[in-house]
Amino acid sequence: MNHFELEGGELHCEGVALSAIAEAVGTPVYVYSSATLERHYTVLRDALVDAGLGQPLIAYAVKANSNVAVLRTLGKLGAGADTVSIGEIKRALAAGIPARRIVFSGVGKTEAELAFALDVGVGEINVESEPEMHLASKVAQARGTRATIAIRVNPDVSAGGHAKISTGKSENKFGVSFSEAERLYAQASNNAGLKPVGVTCHIGSQITDLAPLEEAFVKMRGLVQRLRTEGLSVERLDLGGGLGVPYFNMPTPATPADYAAMIARTMKGLDVEFAFEPGRMIAANAGILLSRVQHIHERPEGRKFAVLDAAMNDLIRPAMYDAYHDIRPVKPRPGPLVTYDVVGPICETGDTFTRDRDLPRLEAGDLVAFMSAGAYGAVMSSEYNSRLLVPEVLVKGDEYAVVRPRPTYEDMLDRERTPPWQL
Ligand SMILES: *Cc1c(COP(=O)(O)O)cnc(C)c1O
Repeated sequence: MNHFELEGGELHCEGVALSAIAEAVGTPVYVYSSATLERHYTVLRDALVDAGLGQPLIAYAVKANSNVAVLRTLGKLGAGADTVSIGEIKRALAAGIPARRIVFSGVGKTEAELAFALDVGVGEINVESEPEMHLASKVAQARGTRATIAIRVNPDVSAGGHAKISTGKSENKFGVSFSEAERLYAQASNNAGLKPVGVTCHIGSQITDLAPLEEAFVKMRGLVQRLRTEGLSVERLDLGGGLGVPYFNMPTPATPADYAAMIARTMKGLDVEFAFEPGRMIAANAGILLSRVQHIHERPEGRKFAVLDAAMNDLIRPAMYDAYHDIRPVKPRPGPLVTYDVVGPICETGDTFTRDRDLPRLEAGDLVAFMSAGAYGAVMSSEYNSRLLVPEVLVKGDEYAVVRPRPTYEDMLDRERTPPWQL
């Protein structure tokens, strides 16, 4: 469920008319609903708790939507943060998320990143390879401390979904094999710079079917048991993120309750602290991209292009992953639907949000909302074509606030420098 509903013929986010935000902030603009973020977090937490999985750490995957106001909204509910860079750790800390609830993931952590993570005291570093584990040990020992680590395993299962967001096959760059994990865990237990506390996996994103997750989790359970048989202590099992969300044109994804029940079943009797790293399922349906129709361009043969003021630099998912977003006019006109190609103004054919979409009739000046754009939307935006970085607004009840303003052209140019020979 989300909090974007028609009221009096006009799309609102909670108690705020989207047209009011467009008027005040301009378009394109991302709009997020606090109530939806909160709801998604609590539904997942309650499902996990009700299924008997203890009080798991839900480390929200910051990369999905890293706005500090979004992080603060979730942090207040008890969320941790799954991070992949110094920048994301700094964002989580700025949002008031305690360091012990921060997990540091990523395939290629640098020495400087590991040093920073240790200095601020992140709760867990998920190591993905043997060289990375040794680097973590070296950096920790230089600081007279031990790095609390979990070993990321690549369970070698096919999760389906788009190839660019599938991570759990052995051909992908993520994690180590089960036999490697056993060897590394034993090694880490005898290493003065490391404190191995658990194992972790993450097989991909936008997974709508529980079967591949279950297959991976059963293997993870086996790993925990084998490690314990070898006399090693395993306190935590981090099951990653990845549960998909409905993007309207697809099979309904498994619910958090189904997901929790599956985990309770596969992990029955295994005494560990569970951790999760959901991103998309928390943020996707909590945000929209609001855009204005510049004009309707009709080809003689009849094809109609709705040209928007939003472009692929603002929302790249359709161009990058062939992603589908529901597009809703903010004030839908009654009458028969009209077929449009909905496009941005950038001079690339990739700057096409959708083709042959039946929508209520549109006119220049109309506002449209790209639904389910709260995850992997603003975070992937750029200034391509020297378009200003898209702003972000957070709504709470009848209030809203600009939580990342649109920069000015001066801001954009001020970041650049003239080389001395051009002065
Ligand atoms: C991307 C990622 C996540 C979040 O994935 P979602 O599909 O957004 O839930 C979690 N953990 C790791 C390690 C990731 O790379």
